[in-house]
Amino acid sequence: MPDAAVQARMPAAKTEHFDVLIVGAGISGVGGAHHLREQCPDKSFVILEALESFGGTWLMHTYPGIRSDSDLYTFGYRFKPWTGPPIATAAEILTYMGEVIEESDLAPHIHYNHKIISANWSSADNRWTIDAMRTDTDEPVRFTTNFLWMCQGYYRHAEGYTPDWPDMDKFKGPIVHPQTWPENLDYKGKHVIVIGSGATAATLAPAIAGECAHVTVLQRSPTYFVPGRNVNDLADILRDLEIDETWIHEIVRRKTLHDQALFTRRAFEEPEAVKQELLAGVAAFLGPDFDIATHFTPRYRPWRQRIAFVPDGDLLRGIVAGKASIVTDEIESFTEKGVLLKSGKLLEADIIITATGFNLSVMGDIAFATNGAPLNFADTITYRGMMFTGVPNMVWVFGYFRASWTLRADLVADFVCRLLNHMKAKGAKRVEVALRPEDKNMPLLPWMDPEDFNPGYLMRGMHLLPKRGDKPEWRHTQDYWAEKDALPAIDLNDKAFVYD
Ligand SMILES: Cc1cc2nc3c(=O)[nH]c(=O)nc-3n(C[C@H](O)[C@H](O)[C@H](O)COP(=O)(O)OP(=O)(O)OC[C@H]3O[C@@H](n4cnc5c(N)ncnc54)[C@H](O)[C@@H]3O)c2cc1C
Repeated sequence: MPDAAVQARMPAAKTEHFDVLIVGAGISGVGGAHHLREQCPDKSFVILEALESFGGTWLMHTYPGIRSDSDLYTFGYRFKPWTGPPIATAAEILTYMGEVIEESDLAPHIHYNHKIISANWSSADNRWTIDAMRTDTDEPVRFTTNFLWMCQGYYRHAEGYTPDWPDMDKFKGPIVHPQTWPENLDYKGKHVIVIGSGATAATLAPAIAGECAHVTVLQRSPTYFVPGRNVNDLADILRDLEIDETWIHEIVRRKTLHDQALFTRRAFEEPEAVKQELLAGVAAFLGPDFDIATHFTPRYRPWRQRIAFVPDGDLLRGIVAGKASIVTDEIESFTEKGVLLKSGKLLEADIIITATGFNLSVMGDIAFATNGAPLNFADTITYRGMMFTGVPNMVWVFGYFRASWTLRADLVADFVCRLLNHMKAKGAKRVEVALRPEDKNMPLLPWMDPEDFNPGYLMRGMHLLPKRGDKPEWRHTQDYWAEKDALPAIDLNDKAFVYD
């Protein structure tokens, strides 16, 4: 529920109603709005976005070098050809999204600077009441909607995750999280430590290394990296043959997804062989004398965490050139001049960057209630990672870890539109998922199996997330190759869907 002060200022009269309300103008929300226009043209809709513009992740991350780690042929939408290099900068992704907004005439439907505070479902009215604050004017605003489409992402946008190391306050220089990168951070000629081993550290370090005196990537444990050229040979050949971009997009998507499916299967079936191939890719840049075993050999099997693509091996080239180095150790404490490691070594720095990940945000930190009673998503069970028991007329878009997020955003959008059209045909005002008789004795498990995928932000926040069952219907399988057929085939008359 909104806090009392906000609620007290809510204007009673100024309430706008929409058939569908989309939360967030990131890649999921903008894509959802496009599909809604195409597949449910009769529905009125609005996108409420807390930020001042569209893009979500790609708008708010401004650290040097910010780019995708997926190829844009699959991270791009199904319906809009990607025509650039496969790995894209945030600016290129924003341009692409801007074109979608223009081509689909979505701008009039997006309300920026609208931060949603609470969402309350009323069974008497079969609608949600959404209370938001205008971040530009501090004005409370209220909307009602029949259907809530949650495209708010999965992490807290206001601040990243920084572990609480001893004596952090003693360090004299700036400590910066990439998620809140200061516009004027002067790193020229400075010694910089980047703490972290994921895609962000791998992107940032080479992007600033050229201007810094030195960049040290300090990691607790290594990550798998795939160095490769930032080109797609097949796309380039097809372009030379003057094939239509729509075709190129489709063909390259299929080829990429085919190759990824093969890779993912191999990562499960022959993890040791895949591991050795990945390590050989890194060794090819670093040479035979580099200590790959310590710095680039993860303790987990490939694909249990995201694998970071390193375009043109830029991080590894930086290490070879002596502009960057990598240290694998743990932090004992911060000091005035840097960090003291558990090995006893002291790393000195002028600036410390904590590329240490996200804070999970369940449903955009919105206070949810059903019929006035607070709703805790951890008490619900998920239907395919999209809907939740006891939560009517709502779908959440949570993408893939091992494949591009947007592949699922497109699939979920098709599902939402099909569901809305089905409800219209049935004359139903409410849809809710519920366990069927055959599901009643199903074991209820945490959202994600840590044996399958275990990044830090999920492990830290698992207790906040809905439960899953052990059947594909009752979990987010993270398997695009199964879902691409399974989601379009969902029987909307199945007993798992209860209509009113
Ligand atoms: C640095 C970085 C790189 C990444 N690279 C890739 C990649 O290469 N490939 C890949 O597949 N995935 C990648 N991801 C994951 C990425 O977050 C998703 O792929 C995708 O961009 C998420 O899009 P989204 O629209 O679902 O969510 P977001 O991009 O998080 O957008 C959600 C939007 O909802 C708004 N919002 C949230 N709460 C509220 C509220 N209460 N009220 C109003 N508005 C709200 C936010 O302001 C935001 O604009 C990356 C993530 C990060 C952080």
